[in-house]
Amino acid sequence: MNVIPRVRTTARSIVSRFPFLDLKAQFATIRSEVLESVIRTLDSQHFILGPEVEAFEGEVASQTGCSHAIACASGSDALILALLALDIGRADEVITTPFTFIASAGSIARVGAKPVFVDIDPQTFNIDSKAIERAITPRTKAIMPVHLFGLASEMDAIQEIASAHRIPIVEDAAQAIGARYEGRAVGSLGALGCFSFFPSKNLGGAGDGGLVTTNDERLADTLRLLRVHGARRKYEYEVLGMNSRLDALQAAILRVKLRYLDKWAVARRNNAARYRDLFHEFRLESLVMAPASPARLSHVYNQFTIRVKERDALREHLQQRGIPTEIYYPRPLHLQNAFKHLGHKLGDFPVSESASLEVVSLPIYPELTEEQQRAVVAAIADFDAE
Ligand SMILES: *Cc1c(COP(=O)(O)O)cnc(C)c1O
Repeated sequence: MNVIPRVRTTARSIVSRFPFLDLKAQFATIRSEVLESVIRTLDSQHFILGPEVEAFEGEVASQTGCSHAIACASGSDALILALLALDIGRADEVITTPFTFIASAGSIARVGAKPVFVDIDPQTFNIDSKAIERAITPRTKAIMPVHLFGLASEMDAIQEIASAHRIPIVEDAAQAIGARYEGRAVGSLGALGCFSFFPSKNLGGAGDGGLVTTNDERLADTLRLLRVHGARRKYEYEVLGMNSRLDALQAAILRVKLRYLDKWAVARRNNAARYRDLFHEFRLESLVMAPASPARLSHVYNQFTIRVKERDALREHLQQRGIPTEIYYPRPLHLQNAFKHLGHKLGDFPVSESASLEVVSLPIYPELTEEQQRAVVAAIADFDAE
């Protein structure tokens, strides 16, 4: 039998222990639809690309307002395929942020190019658009803004710099499907948009998956070629490609979940608003910096990431009270061993470095209850009172 430990908070509410992300709660709401789509796909015995994947691609294309969507094996591959489609490789540079998941800069290094880091804005955690221009050299072949935690980067400013220098933008929209920049969907704001369907993303599959969006017919054609070993016809290889395709089973499941994406984003936004109200109610506004959410951007809150000075002590305190949290990200990429060859040192990107010491993400998934959110905030208030 499962014994569920109970957590007492100072708000005198009693809440069962709950996970940081409750995928089971979400699955329970769509179980029969998902099973139906899995059985349909198994009955078809068509597993690689094919009609389910094409249908899913069409649905994502219309969701993002892009003319093409090319599904692949993961979000990391989406970034690699996008860079390869732009013919980026050795001796090239790509500008991105050091405060992101490894795959952003990792994909750049993986194709043989050099990640050139630009520090972030302390409020949004996204690339500081004002600092991009200084990082551009004759070797810069792309700018890769990351819409971190589900908030779009400052795309107007980035587009202005990119078009002045004739440099394409590759959006890392892995955490931001459904997010908008002044009404326009992320993934449609650069030459190429890259998405991930890792289970913890807002549109998560039952395994790995990814996708690239574009309005450029030629790039779309190249991407379709690259994901199948560079072959347009069997055993005739036009270019050196790779094996990076979305499984039909994943596409079938993702098609079900895509229908709920907007509804889930609304629930995430409501939960974010409730955290803000609770921070106010518990008078935590001087302790906790809530995430920025400029009115002209629509945040989809893949993460709800706050900043606090005594982050590690707070996290420890919350952990003891059964409140789940995560740190995204504890060490910026320029200080990772994998990028040692870039020769960076502590102090090179101070805003990213201090963010990595002060951020903590709170549970934000659509199924989170008010009671659970109240327990999270009460436990933070309890720390403040100590
Ligand atoms: C998840 C993620 C990726 C990579 O996605 P995978 O599907 O896990 O390969 C890339 N960039 C960012 C910012 C991500 O969060």
